[in-house]
Amino acid sequence: AQRRLRAGQAVDMRAREQFPDGRPVPYRPQPKEMAPLTARMIADGAETLFQATFVVDDLLVKADILTRASDGWHLIEVKSSTGYKEKEHLPDVAFQLHVLQKAGLNVTQASLMRLNNDCRAPDLSNLFALNDVTADARAFLPQVAADIADMRQIAAADAPPDVSIGRHCARPYTCLFYDHCWQGVNGLTIYDIPRLSAKKERPLQEANTLYLADIPDDAPLTAAQRKFVDFHAQQQVNIDRESIRRELAGLEYPLYFFDFETIDYAIPHFDGCKPYQQVPFQYSCHILHADGTLIHREYLHTDDDDPRRPLAETLLTHIGETGHLIAYNIPFERSVLHKLADHLPEYAVHLRDMADRLWDQLPIFRKYYRDYRFGKSNSLKSVLPVIAPELSYKTLEVQNGTQAQVVWEEMIGEGDTAVKQQMIEQLLAYCHLDTLAMVEIHHTLKSI
Ligand code: SF4
Repeated sequence: AQRRLRAGQAVDMRAREQFPDGRPVPYRPQPKEMAPLTARMIADGAETLFQATFVVDDLLVKADILTRASDGWHLIEVKSSTGYKEKEHLPDVAFQLHVLQKAGLNVTQASLMRLNNDCRAPDLSNLFALNDVTADARAFLPQVAADIADMRQIAAADAPPDVSIGRHCARPYTCLFYDHCWQGVNGLTIYDIPRLSAKKERPLQEANTLYLADIPDDAPLTAAQRKFVDFHAQQQVNIDRESIRRELAGLEYPLYFFDFETIDYAIPHFDGCKPYQQVPFQYSCHILHADGTLIHREYLHTDDDDPRRPLAETLLTHIGETGHLIAYNIPFERSVLHKLADHLPEYAVHLRDMADRLWDQLPIFRKYYRDYRFGKSNSLKSVLPVIAPELSYKTLEVQNGTQAQVVWEEMIGEGDTAVKQQMIEQLLAYCHLDTLAMVEIHHTLKSI
């Protein structure tokens, strides 16, 4: 979350650079106190304001950018996403428009300023793209008024609204009260049933049916949904040994169990990168030979410069010309390899060949090895505790890819050698476990 916040702040600062005449409204811990400062700056003829603040009754908005247009004001909401997501962004802009209009401002245009997928570092001149959402925001104003009325009613009530938990708790964002409202929920619920429509969900909610095991036999589910429910409610395990053997028989040794760790910068740092491009900074590779010999190879970039060339050059020394590269969910590794090939044409043939030799463990657990204990996910982190419980991420400092990104960013900027070394070891331990886990899974699959 901190990393996202920092990225958002960096994007905000860059967006401000697009308006050299812009002036920030001086910060006050009490946002209301920024409203009179805003009014004074407007009265003094400010052309563009950052964090212009308006208070109308009990409503307060801070506009990212407010700039004078020939016939009024242009309201600009800055987002660090690369697309205009109407459901998420429009209510935000429309609410600001509502308050600004109530405050007496003549807003003639409302826009969303977002990152531009066509931008390529180091040329950041087209880092932003503007979506004019004026018409959409105006059309949404009646809904804003209705929502405000609802919220006022809720805020004035003695008790919280009687809303049951549901899919809305995690979409589009995980609610701040999630842990509170979902405490005591233990196991898969009706909200985990894939593609269950609201129409089919409602009767179950009304009957206070939460867990899959409590769903009546005559509930109107599709065949696939019924299969999902029965599978988990009856705690089934289905292993199609024949198909697993057939899949494994196609593997060519040596086997390279392989995993990248990557960083994605909202504002691209490295040449040729677009916003949020996944740039690999680390990999781990366990190499299993046909005679059972297992060796480990790895790379971790420890400086703050572009990691791609040294990483790729080391990778080429570790991966031979034959044998499958085994990963978990290969589209990610494949895409990183192809992007590396695009960036380093002199190594492109070898890197693309590696991408062609990728072999995915994940489909085995989608199609041929199902265990209710995996829960609703087939991810490595869900499968591993069942397949190889002795291997656990819980004892590691870095336990997932997002944490690896945070630690890597801190590590490359760390001046204290001992602290830096500690972070290096944490990162190496995490990535090492990712590929060792795949080796263990492979051994298990071979033995069933
Ligand atoms: S988690 Fe949030 S959205 Fe879900 S019921 Fe609780 S307060 Fe409402």
